Amino acid sequence: MLTQAAIDAFTALTGTAPEGVWVGPGRINLIGEHTDYNDGYVLPFALPQAAYVAASARADGRWRFRSVDLDDTVELGQAELVPGSPGWHSYLAGVVWALQQAGHEVGGADLVLTSDVPLGAGLSSSAAIECATLAALVDLYGLTIDPVDRAKLARVAENAYVGAPTGLLDQAASTLCTADHALFLDCRTLETRQVPLAVTDAGLEILVIDTRTRHSHVDGEYAARRASCEKAAAILGVPALRDVTDLDAALAQLPALEARRVRHIVTEDQRVLDAMDALAADDYAELGRLMTASHASMRDDYEITERSVDLAVETALGAGALGARMTGGGFGGCVLALVHADRVEATAEAVRAAFAEAGLGEPVTFLGRPSAGARRLV
Ligand code: ADP
Ligand code: MG
Repeated sequence: MLTQAAIDAFTALTGTAPEGVWVGPGRINLIGEHTDYNDGYVLPFALPQAAYVAASARADGRWRFRSVDLDDTVELGQAELVPGSPGWHSYLAGVVWALQQAGHEVGGADLVLTSDVPLGAGLSSSAAIECATLAALVDLYGLTIDPVDRAKLARVAENAYVGAPTGLLDQAASTLCTADHALFLDCRTLETRQVPLAVTDAGLEILVIDTRTRHSHVDGEYAARRASCEKAAAILGVPALRDVTDLDAALAQLPALEARRVRHIVTEDQRVLDAMDALAADDYAELGRLMTASHASMRDDYEITERSVDLAVETALGAGALGARMTGGGFGGCVLALVHADRVEATAEAVRAAFAEAGLGEPVTFLGRPSAGARRLV
């Protein structure tokens, strides 16, 4: 459906059919929260929701970007391709710029996008549009770039051109994920591994509950958590918290606040590794237990949850979920619950009822089926 919508909008804009359509998915993190900037481990998977980009090369060295969703079109020439320019189109222009900076020959293009990844919900609508754009430009200009380098280039677009200081998780997931798998990423070595996550084969589903709570103080809290981790690493004399090998000895050296933060990071890294063992053994009860333990650690030690996500987790567990946790940066956003397939509706309904009872807005729920990464569709 969105493929056709992108093609139709492209044809309406340019008067000709696009050379192709490329897609880049949103992503969600199964487990491993705030571990990325501590050189640790994460385990995201790509969502069925994705950005679709219909595109053709242009011979005149100019770029035209259109968002069907925002009903906005922006046209640029080479001289206007400068980092820091505001607006949604910077995520796309940034990809062109990042490719050029890396020495790739990318000429002009018309790119028309539409996406069903909700904006700003923590599902990485930004990486979706970057990675779809990158896949399009790579094919249109016959570039040879290996997948990890593609993810890095999309990250350069977001960091250096848009100016958002994010890690590699979003772009790696949107580029490298495969259907029915999660992606293990070691944020220090950038080693990746495909981890089978065929939950439906086990009669299960991953229910995503978007609480639709977004707090304005998230950026400040994020900076404070990072600062605590850096301070703790300095006290402990390690390059990053990933290098803490004796947790009890580390905790004994730290002030109370830093000790709680370190306990979350170190135990969360271990939970990612344990989750991979659980998945290798098809032990979904253990995966659920690890998810719930991750939530408790974020709530009690990292102190990044709040009322709506805690309520969603408690209600899902009360409705029989094998495990549940907040995912993403914190202070709202989405919750993942691992549920029996025949309990999906009842669990979603229980959460809606609990939110209504608590006077919270209605949450949005959908199935998080592990999907394929950025690729050409047409
Ligand atoms: P998230 O990645 O968590 O959704 P971000 O703030 O990183 O949130 O990225 C959201 C931004 O990405 C939007 O404000 C917009 O600039 C851009 N964006 C995402 N999807 C679209 C779209 N369909 N059309 C235009 N811009 C989009
Ligand atoms: Mg983003």
